[in-house]
Amino acid sequence: MTVLMPESLAEACELLAANQDAVPMAGGTDLLVHWPQNLGAHGRTYLDLSRVDELKPLEWRDDALVLGGLTTYWDVIRDRRAWRDLPLLIDAGRQVGAVQIQARGTWAGNIVNASPAADGVPVLMAYDAIVELVSSAGSEDVPLADFYLGYKQMRRRPDQLIRAIRVPLADHDVEIFEKVGSRRAQAITKIGVAITHSDDGWRVVANSMAPTVCRCPALEKMLEDGVQVGSPEDLMDAVRQDVKPIDDIRSTARYRESVMARVIYFALRGRVDSFR
Ligand SMILES: Cc1cc2nc3c(=O)[nH]c(=O)nc-3n(C[C@H](O)[C@H](O)[C@H](O)COP(=O)(O)OP(=O)(O)OC[C@H]3O[C@@H](n4cnc5c(N)ncnc54)[C@H](O)[C@@H]3O)c2cc1C
Repeated sequence: MTVLMPESLAEACELLAANQDAVPMAGGTDLLVHWPQNLGAHGRTYLDLSRVDELKPLEWRDDALVLGGLTTYWDVIRDRRAWRDLPLLIDAGRQVGAVQIQARGTWAGNIVNASPAADGVPVLMAYDAIVELVSSAGSEDVPLADFYLGYKQMRRRPDQLIRAIRVPLADHDVEIFEKVGSRRAQAITKIGVAITHSDDGWRVVANSMAPTVCRCPALEKMLEDGVQVGSPEDLMDAVRQDVKPIDDIRSTARYRESVMARVIYFALRGRVDSFR
């Protein structure tokens, strides 16, 4: 195994440009989880980002929170302002694995690992986060909602790193994150939903319901239009338009659709006039 150890972001980009099959490594909590069995991974080249200090800080700007490419869940959980201004980051971060994973795992790693069950991605998407990519050729901003192209496919070239994730600040009057798993910690999500509302409209984001974490345009339109909803069944058509869950070891597609509708209904009933 070859490990490249850059000490600056510029050096990291140069090394990645020269070794495009190199795998960037942040916390390693996804990359190393199957290490003993994953013998094919042992001969690869890794770009260890841990010494790149430019990627570490979390920065509050006037209009956004900027998470660095190495910012961990715990960095956000211990930030008092995040609890007040972007509480879904706390709700999701505290439900990722357990404390050990929250201390090592990064938001950027969660995005690039591209699991349909990722818990950090839906809340970032519901907050309209922007992914800032960098390479030796320059920088590029991609809205997280447009980042995924298909299962494990994304708008990131092999020579690009996530430098930062920019989370715009807005006045939200609805902020909800619900994770359904088999237990409270160390559980892979069976059904996850993040919902926000601000002057920019509704965002409904689903995880574990499709090949990628995704926005749900039919549900968002129902909310925008104030369609009357009297029971979870009234949401089922929109759920089926928006997501295509699979049957797998954790749940059946039918269970996922039905529980997603119930989670949304009971989260919004009493908060939104159109939900009775
Ligand atoms: C026990 C356990 C429990 C877990 N529980 C959960 C859970 O509940 N919910 C959940 O969502 N996840 C969970 N995970 C998965 C994992 O912890 C998260 O996805 C985490 O955010 C990954 O971050 P990392 O820094 O460890 O990524 P790494 O393992 O270092 O990298 C993951 C991927 O991202 C790429 N990458 C990392 N940083 C960058 C960058 N800056 N630029 C470009 N590419 C980059 C890597 O090349 C790799 O492809 C769990 C993992 C374990 C081992």
